[in-house]
Amino acid sequence: MSKKANRNSHDSTEVKNLYDVIIIGSGPAGFTAGVYTSRAKLKTLIISGSLPGGQLMTTSEVENYPGFPNGIFGPELMMNMRQQAERFGTIVIDDEVLKVDFKIHPFLISTHSESFEGRAILLCTGASPRKLGINGEQEFGGRGVSYCATCDGPFFKGEEIAVIGGGDTAIEEATFLTKFGKSVKIIHRRDFLRASKILQEKAFENSKIQFIWNHVVTGISGNKKIESIDIKDLTTGKISNVSVGGLFVAIGHEPNTSIFKDQLEMDDKGYVVLKENTRTSVEGVFAAGDVHDYRYRQAVTAAGFGCMAALDVEKWLSEKKSHN
Ligand code: NAP
Repeated sequence: MSKKANRNSHDSTEVKNLYDVIIIGSGPAGFTAGVYTSRAKLKTLIISGSLPGGQLMTTSEVENYPGFPNGIFGPELMMNMRQQAERFGTIVIDDEVLKVDFKIHPFLISTHSESFEGRAILLCTGASPRKLGINGEQEFGGRGVSYCATCDGPFFKGEEIAVIGGGDTAIEEATFLTKFGKSVKIIHRRDFLRASKILQEKAFENSKIQFIWNHVVTGISGNKKIESIDIKDLTTGKISNVSVGGLFVAIGHEPNTSIFKDQLEMDDKGYVVLKENTRTSVEGVFAAGDVHDYRYRQAVTAAGFGCMAALDVEKWLSEKKSHN
């Protein structure tokens, strides 16, 4: 902390808004962290972000979160997590963080309506799947268009499935989806994959997978659920229609880190870089979940990271207190 300016909070508003830990983001990482820090008697604030509950609010049934043998709806799971954090004293406000200042301590967090000070900050803002940005994509979200094969694959038993993308995620997801789908078409905008060789080989050997090279999806149509997609041949410009019962978009994720730009270290894709356990490059600022983890991206792993970060925050605050 020695290099940081310390701010004396004479203003009564600021004193009222001083927390031991401010958690930014309200997915499984944020709420799990809130359960742990508030149970540890740390004054905890969660600022939910623009989609309170995070990505699971847009999914239907979650079958792979332990403890729910019959599955649970995403929004219900997130409401349970929120209530669990609030039960121990976590304050949750549904607002969006617009600005952070990690160069001063206590750290300063500003939302649309208020500013808050935090002795420690935990970043749990997650990531968002990159969208195709085409007609029908939003309309058929949850009705055949999915961004997570692990989450939604089992709902597509016996269907003709299309997967978009040529990276590790697309190839891994396509291979996984062959367990459920009648067939899986990988539609890629190039004539080669960027996925690792080992994943490629597995996919090439899989008789249920077909490749459609040099094509992009230009439109999605259906009735109650998706029925077909239009694809465009990038070499000839010709558009054709392909029947599908499921469309998995796997063209990468974008971490929700634009507000942290110039405040801490991120990699070239914008993911927060962790230095030691869940510590970021700024002492006193921690991160958990998809905001740093591009590999696993599961609700249960995010929750696990949230727990780890909360324990790290608790330890850091108590060490800092004992040195003051
Ligand atoms: P990625 O590597 O960025 O690949 C994204 C793919 O989507 C690329 O093939 C890209 O095409 C395509 N794409 C991007 N925008 C598109 C658009 N608008 N329309 C059509 N196609 C588009 O993302 P990822 O596959 O999610 O992987 C992210 C990171 O996680 C990588 O570092 C990866 O290695 C890692 N990962 C590892 C594993 C594993 O080790 N088992 C599993 C999953 C992910 P171009 O090729 O033309 O750019």
